[in-house]
Amino acid sequence: MEKIYKKNDSFVNLKIKEKNNEDVEQNAINAIEEFSDYFKKDSEKKILSSVLNDLRSTDNTENKFNIKINVKKEIEGLTGINICKYLIHRYRYEIFPAKYEIDKYPPYLQIEPTSTCNYRCVFCYQTDNVFNKKSNGFMGHMALDMFKKVIDQAENNVEFISIASRGEPLMCPDIIPMLKYTSGKFLNLKLNTNASVLDEKKIHAILEGGVKTLVFSADAAEPESYSKLRVNGKLETVLKNIKKFKEIKEKNYKDSKIITRVSGVKVSNDQNIDNMETFWGDVVDQVAFVDYVPWENVYDSRETKINKPCSDLWRRMFVWWDGKINPCDVDYKSDLEVGNINDSDLSKAWTSNAYKKLRENHLNNLRKNIHPCNKCAVI
Ligand code: SF4
Repeated sequence: MEKIYKKNDSFVNLKIKEKNNEDVEQNAINAIEEFSDYFKKDSEKKILSSVLNDLRSTDNTENKFNIKINVKKEIEGLTGINICKYLIHRYRYEIFPAKYEIDKYPPYLQIEPTSTCNYRCVFCYQTDNVFNKKSNGFMGHMALDMFKKVIDQAENNVEFISIASRGEPLMCPDIIPMLKYTSGKFLNLKLNTNASVLDEKKIHAILEGGVKTLVFSADAAEPESYSKLRVNGKLETVLKNIKKFKEIKEKNYKDSKIITRVSGVKVSNDQNIDNMETFWGDVVDQVAFVDYVPWENVYDSRETKINKPCSDLWRRMFVWWDGKINPCDVDYKSDLEVGNINDSDLSKAWTSNAYKKLRENHLNNLRKNIHPCNKCAVI
């Protein structure tokens, strides 16, 4: 059977160390009842009302909003009106793509500090020698000014952000001031890293900046399996760095609510979540596997028969180091480019004719005519 990658449900396994002590659903309901009058925009009021109805309802209707286990942890770190804000953006992230709806901004924004990576993971497009060859122009670091411009445009408009895309973000020379610039600005900011170049200065920048969830990418609990998948990587180094993070956090940032997760790509049945939990469980809050989608070279893959629209066109938008704006990173060479931050802005790009056309083609069963969507398994 043809492999399909459900973007709205990418966790294969998720283990959370601390069980929820709070009744997060009830807290969410209470927060909406108390603070919904503070929201003046009709669109926000409408979403809060839908969230409230869905949380109170016991029916299992299509596209019903519910609070998943990983989301509970994110909400637990919030109080008062911020719970309502978070729920609005969570709804935009989960339900808008399911209903193929958009508003003025993407529910999720990924910003790429750098496209370079020191690893050559077997399942990653960094193994494509056309892509990784410096002279072909795909490799580079984002300038600090551009990063600040993107953050300024996103602030108060997009709350769900990942500082990561095609490269290893901690290899960007300006990553420390970049992380500090995000401080206090977003409700759900993630940083994804392979942790290989995580040092004390970067650890402090993460903890002083706006990161709410720190995701360490690692797929194994044994050195050999790790190095086989994460080519150029050493489990020992990564473990040492992640332990250092924990130590500094516990010593210097006792009140930090940052969530840490080791997240692996499940490429084979040899990878075992229980072994992962035994190995990583003491150093991070959560351990997960996400489903594997053949990212490594979509352009050379076989055409699929998938007709269903790709939900990511209504969910995420990417700004890459050179300002290119792309709808996804499966298309890592940017055939689908929808704009450039140098002559556009986040809202203009998200609502642009190029994006609109792409979404229309997917809705009209014309995905098969778009390269590389015709070879991609994401729905
Ligand atoms: S290549 Fe097309 S179908 Fe695949 S994730 Fe990107 S936009 Fe979606």
